[in-house]
Amino acid sequence: MAHHTAEIGVFGGSGFYDCIDDPHELKMNTPYGAPSSPVMLGEIGGRSVAFLPRHGKDHSLPPHMINYRANVWAMKELGVTRIIGPNACGSLQSHIEPGHFVICDQFVDRTSGRKDTFYDGPVTTHVSSADPYCPTMRSIAFETAGRLDITAHPTGTVVVVQGPRFSTRSESRWFASQGWEVINMTQYPECYLARELEMCYCNISLITDHDVGAEGVEPVTNEEVIRVFKENNEKVKNLIYEMIPALPTERPCPCATALEGASF
Ligand SMILES: [Zn+2]
Repeated sequence: MAHHTAEIGVFGGSGFYDCIDDPHELKMNTPYGAPSSPVMLGEIGGRSVAFLPRHGKDHSLPPHMINYRANVWAMKELGVTRIIGPNACGSLQSHIEPGHFVICDQFVDRTSGRKDTFYDGPVTTHVSSADPYCPTMRSIAFETAGRLDITAHPTGTVVVVQGPRFSTRSESRWFASQGWEVINMTQYPECYLARELEMCYCNISLITDHDVGAEGVEPVTNEEVIRVFKENNEKVKNLIYEMIPALPTERPCPCATALEGASF
């Protein structure tokens, strides 16, 4: 029987749906508005899962127009405790190549004007984002990638830009010179909002190409970018299917108690 709860959430679209058991769609609304699309509920390896494409069903929402609060709130309302957030990214470093995955452990926020908190008062709440990604989920993602022969990096910093424009060469060189590995437009505030609701969040950055500033790297063709993008989507699907049954149900990690002592 269809049930409207889920334990694990994935911000990903129809590419993931073909291996879900007992799939059914649920239209939701939240105090922050409607999420990007109806949620697809089902099971993988006996675990209940909710899929939500952050860019909308028909990919009509650019990164700066996504209602991140509605998407994350919808997951919370379903009972989700762990979120997997894969996304396509550029690499800022020459040793991180197209086709590699990076399991980020830090972000740098270069977005502006996004609604990035659930705590607008009257109670003042300051949630730590020192380590914004779930350590348990990160290590399971990395181990699973290894088992599947996917080249993955166990740590990395993603710089999140506002978009929809790409970086100038100077911006990109600046980000690279800081030692940051990955550039993307959707990781913030998505991962932080999950922390505000005490959900675990794990990013998987799928490297599609090198950003404009990466030194010593030849520019790639559009055809090449599309080919890598498609290959990455196949690989991340396998990774997520293998990783979900391996996730522990208990959560001794700090994510689960992020609000303790956060209100003043
Ligand atoms: Zn956690």
